Amino acid sequence: MPTASRPWLASYPAEIPHKLSYPDIALYELLIQTAAANPHSPALFFMGKEITYEQLLTECYRFANALRQLGVNKGDRVAVMLPNIPQSVIAYYGALLAGATVVQTNPLYTERELLHQMTDSGARVIICLDLLYPRVKQVKDETALEHVIVTGIKDYLPLAKKIFYPFVQWKQRQRVRVREGERAGVYAFVSLLARSSPDPVRSPVDTQNDIALIQYTGGTTGKAKGAMLTHASLVANVMQCGAWFYKARRGEERILAAVPFFHVYGMTVAMNFGIYMAAKLILVPRFDTNMMLKLIDDQKPTVFPGAPTMYVGLLNHPDLTKYSISSIKACLSGSAPLPVEVQQKFEALTGGRLVEGYGLTECSPVTHANPIWGRRINGSIGLPWPDTECRVVDIETGEEVPPGQVGELCIRGPQVMKGYWNKEEETYACLQDGWFFTGDMCTMDENGYFYIVDRKKDMIIAGGFNIYPREIEEVLYEHPAIREAVVIGVPDEYRGETVKAYIVVRENEGVTEEELDTYCRQKLAAFKVPRIYEFRDELPKTAVGKILRRALIEEEKGKLQTK
Ligand code: AMP
Repeated sequence: MPTASRPWLASYPAEIPHKLSYPDIALYELLIQTAAANPHSPALFFMGKEITYEQLLTECYRFANALRQLGVNKGDRVAVMLPNIPQSVIAYYGALLAGATVVQTNPLYTERELLHQMTDSGARVIICLDLLYPRVKQVKDETALEHVIVTGIKDYLPLAKKIFYPFVQWKQRQRVRVREGERAGVYAFVSLLARSSPDPVRSPVDTQNDIALIQYTGGTTGKAKGAMLTHASLVANVMQCGAWFYKARRGEERILAAVPFFHVYGMTVAMNFGIYMAAKLILVPRFDTNMMLKLIDDQKPTVFPGAPTMYVGLLNHPDLTKYSISSIKACLSGSAPLPVEVQQKFEALTGGRLVEGYGLTECSPVTHANPIWGRRINGSIGLPWPDTECRVVDIETGEEVPPGQVGELCIRGPQVMKGYWNKEEETYACLQDGWFFTGDMCTMDENGYFYIVDRKKDMIIAGGFNIYPREIEEVLYEHPAIREAVVIGVPDEYRGETVKAYIVVRENEGVTEEELDTYCRQKLAAFKVPRIYEFRDELPKTAVGKILRRALIEEEKGKLQTK
């Protein structure tokens, strides 16, 4: 590619190299190398307990040995269905050391979604929270799952909290007993680790070809597809992150790990990058603004990767001024557009920098970000990262369009996925010649700063979660009283967008909003459930009877303008 078509390079701060060299190492080497150089530095902080890098690596070795004992072989899929707690890091790195491919699973998934992911990935083992076990048990027999490893929040609490935890849990939550026992393939995480060897173990890896992770992402066909990310791609994105945040100091940073590790963004930018930098990861198991403000005040994180909803949530907390959040020097906001007002308010409060970035599951995920020094505060997603080639192409002709014109963003670089798991056709549709077609419409200015303007696909982003209308529509269509349904995203002050469903009821049938809400909650994770329903006699359609989703979106936009 000629340099002239890469104007972003001229906008790079002098400290950021245009080209990087990447170590040919397995992803788990990041942890091994950091633990060797910083054995006694804190790796994880969880509810008052600190775990050093040496202790973390030993736990990972134990877990890897336990998986081997269970018969896990190279390339077997191991699903991790956990929030940000120490076990999620141990399970992830332990599985990699054992040679397995990790399948990150959203703990909010319903049985239906879990069943799809387990069937599609063919996972043999799953590690889940005790509270989630009933859901896993329901699907286990219909999948290739042989072993379920169950863990509780309390497993890594400090002693004092551990003693009180069962009481708190008994009072506040449903208590889950894992009765089945090991003969039925159900194991307790702590006892499994306690009797496993802490001896170093690592499975040799072909970094360019072996898949470290299958990361599921919603599809336009309604069901999630697994993006295959190799060790090389994931390591590359960590190195690119390091080059971009060149002011970060190894062994000195404290990262507020609030973005879930089961999402590729939290996994790379908080967990893997944090481990590479020998940072202390302050684990936030759920998005709770009270807990986060106390943690920030107490643990003084220096780096806070987040989604816009998190920054909005903190800014709107009634007691925000009672806490000190000025330790935060750098924040990278990703996964959805960051409102300029939020960026400015957050920077004023912390005295640090909040910059917008962009990425996708298929790209490990980060491809663009604003430089911390040299950022744009006008809605730009920033510049492509080193070694990330970009083209903006006309979706009709496939030709590259000049700066300022809208086209589809296409990306080629070391962080791009190998393809979708068992989905050749879908892979071919979006990955050609190393170029990944993102489905996002954008413009690039003369200086190489990119702006996302629309989505080719109809995805809704609510509170940082991606929601594919087709999936919700399929669930709605299964309801006996519904004749037609269409789902769109409508602007929402807090969550960015929220899900709205238009419903046409069958003749002689009736259904209420409440009934639909209960029905959807049984079939969909809470974040996908429509918040607004509108009942209509008919929906706008094309001449061939295709529902005009666009017309409804335009109608909503019109309503906003006349307000
Ligand atoms: P995921 O695969 O879950 O990481 O979602 C990727 C999608 O999120 C992209 O294709 C974009 O549509 C959207 N996205 C990510 N970052 C941004 C951003 N800064 N602004 C607008 N959309 C974004």
